Amino acid sequence: MLQCTAVTVVPYFEALLALATMEGGPDHPPDVIATGDFLLCELGEHDESVEHAAHLWTADTPDDRDLWLLWTGTGTHRLYRLDVLPTCPAILRNFLTRTVTSCAYADHHHGPHSFSVTDPLGELISGHSGTGTGTGSGTDEP
Ligand SMILES: [Zn+2]
Ligand SMILES: [Zn+2]
Repeated sequence: MLQCTAVTVVPYFEALLALATMEGGPDHPPDVIATGDFLLCELGEHDESVEHAAHLWTADTPDDRDLWLLWTGTGTHRLYRLDVLPTCPAILRNFLTRTVTSCAYADHHHGPHSFSVTDPLGELISGHSGTGTGTGSGTDEP
């Protein structure tokens, strides 16, 4: 399955506040996000009834929790919320390579787990430079 192509601008001040107030958040939230940063939905392709989800921060706590931006709609019709959610417990074991890949999404997410979703953009980027960072600053739509 391909990754959802939805992109949205980070709600900067709300995100800073959420990072600053969450348990296990970053020491210096402005290092994590910048005004005008774009966030990509990381879920597999889905319809409009499902919220888009972009990962913002992995909490430094004993249990796995992440800060997510969840949104629906675009532009002035965008509705969003920032939420700290537990990590999806699903893992993929590959007995051939003896590797274990854990799902990168929040628990109870919609659709397939992250290891079943391919990111065409990420593969494009990694094909060029060798590494792909999840958060790009590109504004070009496909
Ligand atoms: Zn989406
Ligand atoms: Zn999952």
